[in-house]
Amino acid sequence: MNPKDEISIAGLQRIVDQWITEIGHGYFSPLTNMAVLAEETGEVARQMSRLYGDQTFKEGEKPDLADELADVVWVVAAIANQTGVDLTEAIRQNIIKKTRRDLHRHEHRKASSENSENSENSEPRN
Ligand SMILES: [Mg+2]
Repeated sequence: MNPKDEISIAGLQRIVDQWITEIGHGYFSPLTNMAVLAEETGEVARQMSRLYGDQTFKEGEKPDLADELADVVWVVAAIANQTGVDLTEAIRQNIIKKTRRDLHRHEHRKASSENSENSENSEPRN
């Protein structure tokens, strides 16, 4: 794989499967991977609380939100693989579900942001 190639969801599932099979010498159990997912999600939370919240990094610690998000995506792909989930189809169906459910749900947000933009524009400049 060329490191600059785009990776599809199906491609990710294949890459994760190949890596786990060849380099990792097999999958952890689904429940272990669930625990790993919780652990990695916590690591994302740790990054977010330091980058956007009130926490601070320890001396010498470097932020790496991207790497922690990638860890989450990796273990999600692993769980999908070992439980027979086609993530491409699952995401397709999920988007359809969300669109049907939420098509008009957030319209008030657009209206309120337009109102705040208008009020900002109409404020006198100092
Ligand atoms: Mg991690």
